Amino acid sequence: MNVICTNTREIMNKIGYLSCRSRSSSLTFVPKCEPVKDSDLLKLKDFIHNHNSICILTGAGISTESGIPDYRSEGVGLYARSDRRPVPYKDFCASEAIRRRYWARNYVGWPRFSSVKPNSTHKILKKLEDANKVRCTITQNVDNLHTKAGSRRVIELHGTAFRVMCLNCDERICRYYLQDVFTRMNPNMTATSQMIRPDGDVDLSQEQVEGFQVPPCENCGGVLKPDIIFFGDNVPRQVVESVKYNVEHSDSLLVLGTTLTTYSGYRIALQANNAGKPIAILNIGKTRADDLAEVKVEGRCGDILSRIYAMIDQRKESMKC
Ligand SMILES: [Zn+2]
Repeated sequence: MNVICTNTREIMNKIGYLSCRSRSSSLTFVPKCEPVKDSDLLKLKDFIHNHNSICILTGAGISTESGIPDYRSEGVGLYARSDRRPVPYKDFCASEAIRRRYWARNYVGWPRFSSVKPNSTHKILKKLEDANKVRCTITQNVDNLHTKAGSRRVIELHGTAFRVMCLNCDERICRYYLQDVFTRMNPNMTATSQMIRPDGDVDLSQEQVEGFQVPPCENCGGVLKPDIIFFGDNVPRQVVESVKYNVEHSDSLLVLGTTLTTYSGYRIALQANNAGKPIAILNIGKTRADDLAEVKVEGRCGDILSRIYAMIDQRKESMKC
């Protein structure tokens, strides 16, 4: 059974897709916003130009331009369009049935989720890293798009959907490898989906989920979980320490595409502020750290960063002459 047919109309209706057709399909999940003021653009350009060891902090808002919806944006975010909520950590650990449902849906969503491409924001951040402007990129996203774009100094605050961990031992396996194992174990699972969510989940019926086989850890027989921080789970200490160290040794913090609603992200802005590091924020809509920011710009990250990068690049070229 093909999930596309059953779910597409309902989803389209929910997100008002038909009225959005004039927008580029890559912008379906980007919230609407007013054009940015030139003065704001220049302030953010100066912020990036004047700092040379910037900690970047990114959230789901930068991946919307790659076609992945975020969680909280008004009208187009996952929470606005459905009552679906991510599985809490304790439920995943406690119930085999919940894990089977999770992995069956994740298995069907994987081909689409894993093939998403980086957009201009990811590419410009990579160029800024190459130009020695960026100390590190801390991301709350699990979509691997910074790495796909070529950034090397990436800290995945909430883990990655591209790696799988064992809850019992230190085994870590590649998510692509697990997909092959799932395929071998579940030859009758023929559902497909073009649906996409920030964590790679899709909708399946109970009938489709039943009978889905999930392998145990090959090393110890333990339970496999994506190497993602679920709701109610804690960010590993070494990741927290690495973030602290990098913020401490940076000269500024640039926040992109996140409301910082999640405390693990907000606390990075608090740390930077307490250490006297200037903060700039580029996001559509309010964020939890607006009061801490020296520069706050509302707008689409890909558009604004492209314009700023062109200005900085042009200036570099004219200085060479
Ligand atoms: Zn194990």
